[in-house]
Amino acid sequence: MKSLRSDIALTTIASVAIISVLIMALSIRVYEELYQDFVAFEFDALAENMAVDLLPVINNSAGSFSQTQVLLRLDEYEYVDFARVYNEYGELVNLYIGNANINGDTSQTSSITDTEYQTLDSGFQTDDGSIFVIKIIGEADFPMGKLVLSYDIQKPLAENRWEFISLVTPVVLLLLLSTVFITLRLQKRLLIPLTSLIAKMKKVEREANYDVKVSEAGKFEIASLGRGFNSMMRHIKQQTDINQRKTLLLERQQSQMEKLANFDTLTGLPNRQFLMKSLSIELARAKRDKSEVALMFLDLDGFKQVNDSFGHDAGDKLLCGISTEISYAMREGDIVGRLGGDEFLIILVGNPTQSQLQTIARRLITTITQLHHIDGWRVDPSVSIGIALATDCDYAASSLVTNADVAMYEAKKEGKGRYVWFTSSMQEATRRKNQVATFLPHAIENSDFHLVYQAKVNEFGEVVGFETLLRWYDEELGNISPAEFIPIAEQSDKISEITLWVINQACIEIPRITAQYGEKIRISINLSAYDLINVHVTDSILNGLRSGKIPKDNVEFEITESAYMNNFSIANTFLSDLKNEGCKISLDDFGTGYSSLSYITEFNIDTLKIDRQFVSQIGLSKRSELITITIIEMAKNLNLEVCAEGIETHEQSAFLTDNGCHILQGFLYSKPIPLDALLSQQEEQALLRLAN
Ligand code: C2E
Ligand code: MG
Ligand code: MG
Repeated sequence: MKSLRSDIALTTIASVAIISVLIMALSIRVYEELYQDFVAFEFDALAENMAVDLLPVINNSAGSFSQTQVLLRLDEYEYVDFARVYNEYGELVNLYIGNANINGDTSQTSSITDTEYQTLDSGFQTDDGSIFVIKIIGEADFPMGKLVLSYDIQKPLAENRWEFISLVTPVVLLLLLSTVFITLRLQKRLLIPLTSLIAKMKKVEREANYDVKVSEAGKFEIASLGRGFNSMMRHIKQQTDINQRKTLLLERQQSQMEKLANFDTLTGLPNRQFLMKSLSIELARAKRDKSEVALMFLDLDGFKQVNDSFGHDAGDKLLCGISTEISYAMREGDIVGRLGGDEFLIILVGNPTQSQLQTIARRLITTITQLHHIDGWRVDPSVSIGIALATDCDYAASSLVTNADVAMYEAKKEGKGRYVWFTSSMQEATRRKNQVATFLPHAIENSDFHLVYQAKVNEFGEVVGFETLLRWYDEELGNISPAEFIPIAEQSDKISEITLWVINQACIEIPRITAQYGEKIRISINLSAYDLINVHVTDSILNGLRSGKIPKDNVEFEITESAYMNNFSIANTFLSDLKNEGCKISLDDFGTGYSSLSYITEFNIDTLKIDRQFVSQIGLSKRSELITITIIEMAKNLNLEVCAEGIETHEQSAFLTDNGCHILQGFLYSKPIPLDALLSQQEEQALLRLAN
């Protein structure tokens, strides 16, 4: 790489050399001109003298001694070429060959002929490197002859030139050398800060260390460069520090986010996202290796009671304890994670055999079922496990999770605290569930639903209201029961859309019902547990009531006991708002949840709906009858209305009315029927007939 220093040195030397040569050339030229003038002047004077001296002897015979004597004066002059003396007739009377010709340096005396000399005027002439001085001998008006002197100017000039050059060259060289020396010294002095700046820059580049400073001393430009460099480094350092802090913060946030995104905050176990990612990776590997992967779906039994009875802190502690126990009970390489709530997932890799899986499942059940003491409370948890194999679902991750989930539900159904293998017979149920979930959004978009109404009667058999029940008919799937699709809609977040559709549809149809059955008729609309915690739904309902779009005097909302309990405080606020708007609330399926009686006084409700499971046992189970009577009594004491659902026999009807049940509902009076049928007179009569 060419350096600035060598560039400056080269340029300086070249400049000095050129200037020196030019000065030398100029000096030579000036010197030669001066020399020529001097020679001319001197020669002119000499010629003048000689012309005067030749006058008395011009007419002597040619080549006379007296003439020659005059001419011999020229011997003193080294560079005289020749001298010619002509008489007044132009005849050459004497010729002198000068030192210059004798030394043989000039080949001939002159290239000009005698005749030409005659014609030349007096004065100076130059010819071929010689100077001629022509002088008239005698008066100009009476010339007696002519003297021609020739002086070789070239030779002395050449000699002097070389002499001059040889004299001046060392001086020029000395000048050049000293210039180079001074330039280099100067450069060095000036460029030292620059060199150190470059070195510092290279250091910064190499070490990425911006905590570097250079001296700010020196000449103005250098000092300003140093200051500029230092200020730049300060800025870079500040910026780097800020960036470093930001990067550190970002890295920390990223790792926190990654942790949050992949790990459960309570137990520290991998969460759903991480589990699903790991499952996909393990399944892809197992598919390649043609090996087996098993999935265990764990759900704690009765975990909700723990939360309700001992508080959420205790529930959290139990979850943490159980998470640790599950992790300890597993083999190395297996992945344990928490799906959420009381659900855990275990991915078992490395081609596990059926007996290995059974052993692990038993070990897990034994470990978890052990007695736990939390905050001094005695807790007896148990777990239901569903086991599914990757080869049964062609290594599809989502199917594998669904299969294990289905098997876990089977385990719950079979009595909890046990494990169940997924079987192909369960597959049909899963397939159907998947189909329903897939078809549901389309059904919502197309409004493939319609409402049916089931009558509610009083103790005198008079129709006092109807419960709206949702129906969905699909060309491929046929009739799908709400008991089947509502839980799926709840899981897939579609329930709010469905609820709003039902409310809207009911509000369209209610005027026709009240027109036929009177203004006092009350229409019940079922709400899901998810609706109670969905602000969009609760706001829509409250706004509908306030705007009069939902007729508050004719509408009643049914919420199940468990839905209320699961979201007690949120639900309570919403339900008290509903009541404030003058709307009635009914607690559905009462007795099937696990409401503690202490809660019942805090419930914002108007009606208790005794669940069908008690009603169906009337006449069969004294215990159920007793519970039914107790519920009715309690409701009366709390000034609540009591409704019994699922009445199919007159015996059930009689028992309930005898014990003071106000409102009755069931197939005995009417099955859920479409609006058109409800509005036909015939149907109304049939209802009344049934009731009587
Ligand atoms: P539910 O609210 O407790 O409704 C009563 C269920 O019992 C209805 O079943 C009804 O047809 C049935 N039923 C009534 N009387 C009798 C009887 O005498 N004997 C028998 N065996 N059954 C009787 P359905 O219509 O299949 O509804 C099932 C559940 O689906 C409902 O239970 C309710 O929880 C839910 N559901 C229905 N429609 C809706 C809705 O629009 N929104 C919401 N969120 N849930 C709904
Ligand atoms: Mg209901
Ligand atoms: Mg019910």
